[in-house]
Formats: sequence, structure tokens, C-alpha cells
Amino acid sequence: MTERQNTSTERESADVVVLGAGPAGLTLGNILLAHGIDCVVLERAERAALQVRARAGFLAPHTVRTLERHGLADGLLRHGRAHGACEFRTDTGGFRLDYDRLGRREHHTVYPQQDLVTDLLAHYLDAGGRIRFGTEALAVQDADGRRPTVDARDAQGRTTRWQARYVAGCDGRHGAARRSLPPGALRHHRDHGISWLGLLAEAPPSLDTVGYATHRRGFAGHMARTPEVTRYYLQCGRGTPADAWSEERVWDELDLRMRSADHGPLRRGRILQRTVVDLRSDVVEPLRHGSLLLAGDAASLISPSAAKGANLAVLEAELLALALVDDLAHGDAAALDDYSRRCLAHIWRAQEFSHWMVRLLHTDCGADTGPGSGSDAESFFHESMRCSRLESLRTSRAHQDWFAENYVGV
Ligand code: FAD
Repeated sequence: MTERQNTSTERESADVVVLGAGPAGLTLGNILLAHGIDCVVLERAERAALQVRARAGFLAPHTVRTLERHGLADGLLRHGRAHGACEFRTDTGGFRLDYDRLGRREHHTVYPQQDLVTDLLAHYLDAGGRIRFGTEALAVQDADGRRPTVDARDAQGRTTRWQARYVAGCDGRHGAARRSLPPGALRHHRDHGISWLGLLAEAPPSLDTVGYATHRRGFAGHMARTPEVTRYYLQCGRGTPADAWSEERVWDELDLRMRSADHGPLRRGRILQRTVVDLRSDVVEPLRHGSLLLAGDAASLISPSAAKGANLAVLEAELLALALVDDLAHGDAAALDDYSRRCLAHIWRAQEFSHWMVRLLHTDCGADTGPGSGSDAESFFHESMRCSRLESLRTSRAHQDWFAENYVGV
């Protein structure tokens, strides 16, 4: 129901106001809708922009099962490709891990995040879901009470005050949900001090595996996306502008660090997109503040080194959706009360593994306090441990099983 409050602010309501239409917000919206819960999604971007925003691509088996359980996996089951191997390239040679034959013998499904978002949006809209594109949530008020509100502004500058029973903050790290947290909310933060130049190249994959190359000039990574498009990463100095390097320099640097001379050339192509990603991790604790609940990157930011972000977002969205259904449809608040604790257990486990990956892949992590902080002796110590860790991963079946389980798990 819409009611004009005064000349400039409208009032609207929904039982659950979801902020953000990424994997977290759309998974949540779809499950709520399927259970007959009144909800609305407020999304800052326009639909066209959301459907081309390339980010993640490696979906964990748990993510696929979750989406399948709620009838949201048609596209990824039809077009996603199974992926189960990675290759490490180092100064002393290289080795391949077929992780789908190790640990729990599970594989990833490669399906670009923008395609997943496109599918989730279409499903939500086809089911009659309410969404406001081009609408930025400004702040959440009265989260400690039973009737929180969200002020939002559309692209024309019109403001709306949404009244809700619950607000789901799925609007990422810089969204309104985080800005509206009470002063007592804890934010555990870690800056790994490392940056990656993320590249999307119009080129078929050059390896049939994920490629992780450690090199004295910095890390380089190769990840398949589609038969025509491949994601690459190049470690770069903090503050490097995304367009600092010419295309030729990018490819030369990738060839050097991926050791193409030894392993075969990379298939070059036009660079379609560049982003600089600063490797940072943080966790908000708890994830519930009265009627405001966080999920996805709003709850926890995780470095992309182990491809966990989108997978955690879907996991948390399902837990939150089912807890909200229990409360709103059946008057049972137990799962909602337990929501934060359950998610945090998964989040810290994923953080721990991603942190381990960061330290495995980078030569200049330095001491525990970050790069550049250590003396030569500390750097030598870190480097020796890193090499030893890689050697253990190459030779120890137990270590490989541990890696496989954590790599595909959330
Ligand atoms: P988002 O996808 O960020 O969605 C949040 C939404 O909220 C956005 O649509 C945004 O426009 C909207 N929003 C923000 N503020 C507001 C506001 N105030 N009001 C309304 N709407 C707002 N993860 C993996 O699992 N595997 C990978 O391989 C991987 N690779 C990545 C590569 C890159 C380059 C990057 C940047 C990330 C990668 N990630 C990966 C991480 C993954 O993309 C995120 O963890 C995931 O998008 C989180 O989903 P989300 O729904 O929480 O947030």
C-alpha cells in the first residue's frame, strides 16, 4: 500500500524489506516469496547493469544444492560446467590437484555470477516479486524496535519511507545496513595489504584447471568463466590504477608469472574489464541487531583468494529466509535467534581457509601484521614456510584431502 506522507516522502510497507539484489538478496527474496512472505527488494543499480556485473564464477556444491532445493538452479544446471582441478606453478616447477578426486570428491560448477543474478531476478519477477531498481537505501531506523523503517531514494530523487517487520541487509560492504549498525556492533577487520588487478579477457581459457602462479614479481591467477571469456588476476601494488598497465604489458606480465615459456602460451584476447581488488576480510558480529539482519558481503567480506564470497552469500540467505519464514508464518523465532551463531561458524571457517590461501599464494605477506612490516629475516621465514606448505600440498595425500574439502566447501 502506498500513501503520500507529504509532498516529498511516500510511505510504503512490506513484512521484509531486503536491501540489495545480489546473490544474497535475490536468493532470500525468492525463498520468502515462495513461502508467501510479503517482501520487497530495494536495489541501487538498474536491472541492465546488474545483469552484466561480472564477479564470481565458482559455485560450491552446497550452493548448487541450495539453489536446486528452491527451484532456482535451472540455468546453472543447464549451462554451468563442472570444474574439479587446479594447478600450482612455482619456481621449482608445477603440480596439479584434481580436487574432485580428493577429499569429498566434489567439484565446483562454473557459472558467471551475472548469469546467476539474471536467473534469480527473472525467477523473482516471474513469481510476482516486488523490486525497486535504481533505488538507494539511505538508512535503517528503529532496528531495535518491532517496526524498523528504511528511507530510500530513487533515481529521480523521490524518497520513500518503508516500514517493515524485518530488514535484511544484503547490500554489500558499503551499503546502508552496515552504516545503520548500532555503535556497539563489532567489526573484525583484516587488511592483507595485497591488491589484485582483476581482468576479464575475451579469450578462451588457457588451462583446463584453475591456475595459481607464485612468482617473485607477484601472484598471477587464471580462472575459467565461459568458453569465450577468462578471468585473470595479477598482483599489483596497493593504489595502482586499474588502467595503469597497457594490454600488452598485462599479457607479458601474465606470461612471465604464469611461466608460459615452460607450460605453454596463454591465449590472448581483448581485455573487457579491469578492477583493482584490495584483499581485505572483515566480519560483523553479531549478524542480527534487533530487526536488522545481515547476509552476504554486508555480513562478512572475504578475500577472493578461495572463491567463497558468493557461496557464503547463498548459504546465509537460505538460513535467513527459512528463519524469517518460521517466525513470520509460524510464530517460531528460534531459528532467527540462532541465525547469527550458525552463520558465523561457516564464516570463520571460510575466513580461515581464505587467509591460508592468501599466505600460500603471495611471496610478500611478511609477518602476521602484513606486507612490508617484517624484517628480511621475517620475510625469509615467511617465504620458507610458504614453500614448505606448497611442498606439503604437492606430496601429502592427507594435506591434499584437507585442501579439497575446504576448497569446495562452505
Ligand atoms: P553483492 O553481490 O555486492 O550485492 C549487493 C547489492 O546491493 C548490489 O547489487 C548493490 O548494487 C546493492 N546495493 C549496495 N548499496 C545499496 C544501497 N545503499 N541501497 C540499495 N542497494 C544497494 N566470490 C566467489 O564465491 N567466487 C569467486 O570466484 C569470486 N570472485 C570475485 C571476483 C571479483 C572481482 C569480486 C569483486 C568479487 C568476487 N567474489 C567471488 C565475491 C562475490 O562476488 C561477492 O561475495 C558476492 O557478490 C556477494 O553477494 P552479495 O549479494 O552479498 O553482495
